[in-house]
Amino acid sequence: MANILVTGGAGYIGSHACKVLAAAGYTPVTYDSLETGWKDAVKFGPFEQGDLLDRERLDQVFAAYRPQAVMHFAALSQVGESMTQPGKYWRNNVSGSLSLIEAAIAAGCLDFVFSSTCATYGEQDGVVLDEDSSQQPLNAYAASKRAIEDMLDNFGKSDGLRSVIFRYFNVAGADPDGEIGEFHQPETHLVPLMLDAVDGKRDALTIFGTDYDTPDGTCIRDYVHVMDLVDAHVLGVKWLEDGRDSRVFNLGTGTGFSVREVVKQSGTITNREVPIIEGERRPGDATALVSGSQRAITDLGWDPKRSNMENMIADAWRWHQNTGAHYSE
Ligand code: UDP
Repeated sequence: MANILVTGGAGYIGSHACKVLAAAGYTPVTYDSLETGWKDAVKFGPFEQGDLLDRERLDQVFAAYRPQAVMHFAALSQVGESMTQPGKYWRNNVSGSLSLIEAAIAAGCLDFVFSSTCATYGEQDGVVLDEDSSQQPLNAYAASKRAIEDMLDNFGKSDGLRSVIFRYFNVAGADPDGEIGEFHQPETHLVPLMLDAVDGKRDALTIFGTDYDTPDGTCIRDYVHVMDLVDAHVLGVKWLEDGRDSRVFNLGTGTGFSVREVVKQSGTITNREVPIIEGERRPGDATALVSGSQRAITDLGWDPKRSNMENMIADAWRWHQNTGAHYSE
């Protein structure tokens, strides 16, 4: 059974990736510093604690497991923090990825699946973004992801590294079996914050801006179910396994939901009122981000079958209710 090195395997998306990798017959080897990840979320394969910048530790792990491919999720991902502490983002995300890529190449592991973001497109209102849209990162987080995309391209040309780059739109939902789910500390994402407000863990959800140029005044995003998102990653590993060339794929559904629409749907699913406060715009938020995802569907054979809002909220709510939506360590 082939090993896949999953950096950030103790995080939200990485842990779901480990689950589907294991189900597809791979052994996911989690490499995580636990700075923002949770040991309790590592349930589907071996765990190796380590930092991306620790090259010696990475070399040891590559030597011990001889992975067929790397899935690289580990990153700092808070937009606001990236603007006040850009050094953290350039050091951890960019230098950390450089260290990982060089370790992978040194170990002869040349298949690389990378988690990037639609935030690299920046503000391009009214446009459905496809993979050829121009990239204009608006914050240091997005700039760090864009830099890593360039790095992968450069090492592809110099060393034959082959990469599948996924640009995520908004990821939501949880494992329908309830084994793992979304838990960030601190939490900044819409769905978990909203569910906290629904069950009284926080007073209300603040809607960031109600004066956008959209039908109901709130921002529009394209939400994709975490299980669909990680399914695409397994297809990415197989794409490289089949000897295909490096490729970039958007992962979204092509349908946008406003914040108010997400709130409304949550009220329906939970059968409770969602307490809201209409607040100011959050700096750095684009008005609307909607994916053109045809390439992933056509070329990769991706089927985002669970990505309707009802499923995403229902699965997140199940995790929320069963576990209190948290890990203890
Ligand atoms: N949002 C909001 N209140 C919150 C958190 C998020 O109104 O407490 C909005 C945010 O402005 C954006 C959408 O919800 O339009 C999704 O935000 P999230 O932080 O989940 O993801 P992002 O779009 O930043 O990747």
